[in-house]
Amino acid sequence: MVPGYSSVKLHIFHSGYCVSHGRVVDPVQGQKRCRFYATWALIEHPEQGLILFDTGYAPRFREATARWPYKLYALMTPVFLEAHETALERLKALGYAPDQIKTIILSHFHGDHIAGLQDFPNAEVICSASAWAQASSVKGWAAVSKGILPDLIPADLEQRIYGIPDSDLGQLKKADSAYDLFGDGSIQLYALPGHGRGQLGAVLQTPEGPVFLAADAAWQLEPWRAGILPRSIVRLFFDDWGAYKRTFGELRDFARLHPDCRIVFTHSPELVER
Ligand SMILES: [Zn+2]
Repeated sequence: MVPGYSSVKLHIFHSGYCVSHGRVVDPVQGQKRCRFYATWALIEHPEQGLILFDTGYAPRFREATARWPYKLYALMTPVFLEAHETALERLKALGYAPDQIKTIILSHFHGDHIAGLQDFPNAEVICSASAWAQASSVKGWAAVSKGILPDLIPADLEQRIYGIPDSDLGQLKKADSAYDLFGDGSIQLYALPGHGRGQLGAVLQTPEGPVFLAADAAWQLEPWRAGILPRSIVRLFFDDWGAYKRTFGELRDFARLHPDCRIVFTHSPELVER
């Protein structure tokens, strides 16, 4: 805990997974098939209430990928999801109603991060300006080639989304540059460009110490620690491969400078498999 900063409670869940070849993630040690769990976080803030970081898969992913060209997304990454695993159902099981979610932070607009968004119609949504600019304008092949499924975006999102100017987000290499979401130090946002357009991550101050929700800046903790990049074939659907490699390295430098900070990647298997 940083003196003077508010502390938030963090709970990590998963809502389904997709499968892909492990060698894509880790060309050195990747196993044959690998699960990409769609994890998301529930954050309890003492004054701001309940906040989500991403939303995982939801059944509407199937409808959103029923037609061409969007079907390609589901063919590339077959999705497995049980009804009780959605963010909506997991929160209900904890006794929370959907309208208790006041804020949703979106790391980026890939389908596995936003499919649950329509279940929380009262939440203010926070993302980067460039992420929203892209997600709100692309359709068809231009969308699916960037991992965006327009049918997952709530029709009224324009009225309740705030796109933070990308230049206002924290830079990993610049100390004290983070975007302080609530002005109390509890949630600080950083730009993590390269994977999806305008991707951001959040450093949370929790009672157990700082935690960096680093989204898809890397897919798995162990290869990232070892400095092993995914296969460059992924550049086909990444926003910017050069920026991805820079972010990947800068985050390793950040972790060396902040050894007390736990780094969490959305799809890293240790979050779910023990
Ligand atoms: Zn992604």
